Amino acid sequence: MPICKWCNLEFSKLAKSHVIPQAFVNFDGITDKYLISTDRYRARRPIGSYDSSILCLKCEHNYSHIDSEAADILLHKFDKELIKFNDERDQKAFQIDGKFSEVIKKFLIYVLWRASVSQLHEFQAVKLGPYEEIIKSVLVNKENIGKYDYSFMAYRVENPIGTLFPFPRVLRDYDGQKYYCLIIANYLFDIKIDNRKPTNVYKVVADHPHVVFVKLATIEGNLKKVMKELLLRHEAKFGKIPRT
Ligand SMILES: [Zn+2]
Repeated sequence: MPICKWCNLEFSKLAKSHVIPQAFVNFDGITDKYLISTDRYRARRPIGSYDSSILCLKCEHNYSHIDSEAADILLHKFDKELIKFNDERDQKAFQIDGKFSEVIKKFLIYVLWRASVSQLHEFQAVKLGPYEEIIKSVLVNKENIGKYDYSFMAYRVENPIGTLFPFPRVLRDYDGQKYYCLIIANYLFDIKIDNRKPTNVYKVVADHPHVVFVKLATIEGNLKKVMKELLLRHEAKFGKIPRT
């Protein structure tokens, strides 16, 4: 009998859990943009991929609000929630209220947890180790997440290609800290799975009162270059940011 990896109870059958929620697969309502690529082939999966070895029906249901709250802000209300970035002419980034940071963090760590426990080929590279249990306890106990915990860099991609698996670069190293890279719908996120304080521009973003989304033309865009430009523009307006 399969065991639910969340509540650890046995069930005759588990739910069909999407690691990347379905709402993010066909996010623009026109075409599915979920691509699986392996060494040999590339396939479209119109409803994304699901894994029936992760959650029981009850756990799937009880935590589905984490996905739907994130879909609500990232896919449906994003344009309405925009706050002008620095000045009206600034074309480098979007921002939304800092209150959404927690919703987005919980969503990102829940996706990563599912990816980590999943048996699907496309998520093999995501292995959170001890963070599987730590993340579960944060979500089960509805803990408040500190600003430096699971801090993330977000990018909004103007010409998205969709969600590509396996991820081209899963784990990035910034100043010796580990960040997982997730490409979901028209977003790219780097999430810190590491208990140390973020550094440099990542700390500036974590300290920022709003959630910043750097604009990126394509997912292959030069992340370092756009972030440096963003930082320089910010400093030109608000003064030098102390480096840590
Ligand atoms: Zn369960």
